[in-house]
Amino acid sequence: MGIGSNLISIVELDSNGFKHSSFETIHAAKQLSNAGWGPVTAIAFTNNNSLDTKELFQYRADKVLLLVHPSFETYNRWAMTKALESLIEPNSTILMGATIHGKELAASLSATLDAGLASDCIALEPGENGALTARRPVYAGKAYSSLTLEGDKHKICTLRTNVFRPEGPDTSLSGDPEVLEVSPASNLIEKILEVSKSGAKKDITEARIVVSGGMGLGEPANFKLVEDLAEVLDAAVGASRNVVDEGWRPYSNQVGQTGRTVSPDLYIACGISGAIQHIAGMSSSKCIVAINKDPYAPIFSIADYGIVGDVLEILPLLTEEFRSLLKP
Ligand SMILES: Cc1cc2nc3c(=O)[nH]c(=O)nc-3n(C[C@H](O)[C@H](O)[C@H](O)COP(=O)(O)OP(=O)(O)OC[C@H]3O[C@@H](n4cnc5c(N)ncnc54)[C@H](O)[C@@H]3O)c2cc1C
Repeated sequence: MGIGSNLISIVELDSNGFKHSSFETIHAAKQLSNAGWGPVTAIAFTNNNSLDTKELFQYRADKVLLLVHPSFETYNRWAMTKALESLIEPNSTILMGATIHGKELAASLSATLDAGLASDCIALEPGENGALTARRPVYAGKAYSSLTLEGDKHKICTLRTNVFRPEGPDTSLSGDPEVLEVSPASNLIEKILEVSKSGAKKDITEARIVVSGGMGLGEPANFKLVEDLAEVLDAAVGASRNVVDEGWRPYSNQVGQTGRTVSPDLYIACGISGAIQHIAGMSSSKCIVAINKDPYAPIFSIADYGIVGDVLEILPLLTEEFRSLLKP
């Protein structure tokens, strides 16, 4: 059985429902659809055959396909790859978020389907005869590469989160999903035994505001100052690699080349030097604020606003100021 559409958005769920990156991939697919490509099918993996999918329609998916199997209670790379393998119609374009899971699933699908893959895209441009040109940051964000996927093989792209911003939901839109019970389990080579949560309140790759701390905080207890500001701003907490290596914060907080890539509206770097490997993970933030006691710290070269001073003194002042400004 085929999916009946060549434009596919793979959507992701967490305990709060669909992740925002899902709506971003639908939006990016819809832009291609509006340029004359086919309708957009959003595909969700779930163990719940009555999953509420109205948001996917409201974010303008033309069709929704629920692939249902007990193993889809959690992310399951191999089972998901196997379920998609037999369903994807020839010459399909498959978009998913450049999230931890999206990046792995895209690579797995690319190998399984022998398809071209452009990862961490920040723009997509449709070309002649179904060609698709993807723009992606390379060399730790110092340059951009344009990569064209063409020919009649599948095309797979992962999209940097917070870049393909959709319009809000259109609540007049609705639809019924197609529900397909799949059975990818016969040749499973991976089984999820346990899922442990990091304890982070917000995923740094999805947050609109990230407050990140570095070694300039001096000691782990001072991260409380970063957490306080993050709480007032409804932000996620990030960290430099050295902080993570020291065990002050979990790896899921790490921003940078060997951590996560973030593109929030506002990134506040607190006591972070701005090494190239850190900048690689946050330079596409819309507005960067840096607090550092060294006026020559490299972070100031990419900051929109810089505060030269002691982060331990400045953070409580900022938190109080925002608290009174944002008071309901
Ligand atoms: C292969 C490789 C991959 C890497 N990947 C990553 C990565 O993914 N992410 C990452 O972050 N790094 C990564 N790094 C490490 C990177 O090179 C830097 O070492 C690291 O980012 C530095 O962390 P930091 O800025 O917290 O610490 P430091 O370099 O020690 O900087 C601390 C800063 O705080 C300032 N400061 C000190 N006290 C105060 C104060 N009281 N008030 C205000 N400011 C103060 C100092 O002036 C300084 O600028 C990688 C390195 C390598 C080699």
